[in-house]
Amino acid sequence: METIPCVSCGTFFIPRNCKQNYCREPGCQRARKAVWQRYKLKSDEDYRTQQHLSHQKWLQTNPDYYRSYRRRNPDKVQRNRKKCIKNG
Ligand SMILES: [Zn+2]
Repeated sequence: METIPCVSCGTFFIPRNCKQNYCREPGCQRARKAVWQRYKLKSDEDYRTQQHLSHQKWLQTNPDYYRSYRRRNPDKVQRNRKKCIKNG
């Protein structure tokens, strides 16, 4: 089979089948999953509901996650506050 460029990093690789367009690097596989998940969240209501419930459940076992996330990433807090002003 011919080599093709990875959609994520551009490195040429030999695909396992005609559908594979991401190479096997972990970063590229993560990118592929993120694209799939964004599409799935948009198109599949059951998946969206399950992801929401799963997140709620996880949040109950990690109640301080977002508090410490905001402490660790003050730049993100600023960015999100600006977004609220723009959208509100
Ligand atoms: Zn790649």
